[in-house]
Amino acid sequence: MKKISWVTHPQYDIPLPKNHRFTSSKFSDLYNELKRIRLIDFAEIFNPEKASVSDLIVAHEERYITKIINGSLEGFEERRLGLKWSPELANRSFLAVNGTLLTAMKAIENGIACHIAGGTHHSHYNFGSGYCVFNDLAYTSIQLINKNLVKKILIFDCDVHQGDGTASILEKNDNVFTCSIHCKNNFPARKSISDFDVELEDNLDSAQYLNVLNYTLKECINRFKPDLVLYDAGVDIHINDELGKLKVDDDGLKTRDETVLNYFKTLSIPIATVIGGGYSKNNSELAQRHSSVFKAAKNIFL
Ligand SMILES: [Zn+2]
Repeated sequence: MKKISWVTHPQYDIPLPKNHRFTSSKFSDLYNELKRIRLIDFAEIFNPEKASVSDLIVAHEERYITKIINGSLEGFEERRLGLKWSPELANRSFLAVNGTLLTAMKAIENGIACHIAGGTHHSHYNFGSGYCVFNDLAYTSIQLINKNLVKKILIFDCDVHQGDGTASILEKNDNVFTCSIHCKNNFPARKSISDFDVELEDNLDSAQYLNVLNYTLKECINRFKPDLVLYDAGVDIHINDELGKLKVDDDGLKTRDETVLNYFKTLSIPIATVIGGGYSKNNSELAQRHSSVFKAAKNIFL
């Protein structure tokens, strides 16, 4: 039986205080949900190794990387990151960047692969922000091009928040096209300039969202011919998300993921998915939302 490559690691969860907005167990919650709905039967699972400092300096300042290793962030830097430093957070940050890289390499091999993490798109060259320590999307893109595995990459970011860190790290990189569809009145207050930004008004519903999505997919391919897509399938576009301001329902989310995967499959362009953001106090609801892109991968590719 054909299987889809999934990438995960048992050390992805991080300790956080109770009632923190970020669900500290979201990675294992999602893995357990994928097990519960038996999607795991259709998956082959891979674990990444930690990235080294010399790997990471393609996308981040060495001084900042060292602060993450040593836990020597200043107070304001931790506040901007939104997470308190811990050895577990440092460890997972070095694992997860290579998790997305490994996912992309599996996608190049097989057409599709899914990371049970990733999409830390608010991380900038020399600082972390919005729960994002290192930028897996920028890191993966630069690594793949340096390794000569692909020449042109499209980062298709459907998280409700702008991929500001990705856009700024890759601003001068002509081999990577950054596209972000995001809610205009949402974090970050100060936006970066992606190669293609699509700003949404508050309260957009599923039908309106899917119209914009279809237009954006076509426009990306008119402007740029990638040989790999990194797809940030953030679920904070969902109507019940605590941080999103849109009104996309379960069906809309499902259609979004299937539309994106089907679009690039039809063009024979490999696609690697990352989970992106999603915020809810109900851990199982959140895990169910994040499972959407994994279901779509099975529906479209198997
Ligand atoms: Zn987000």
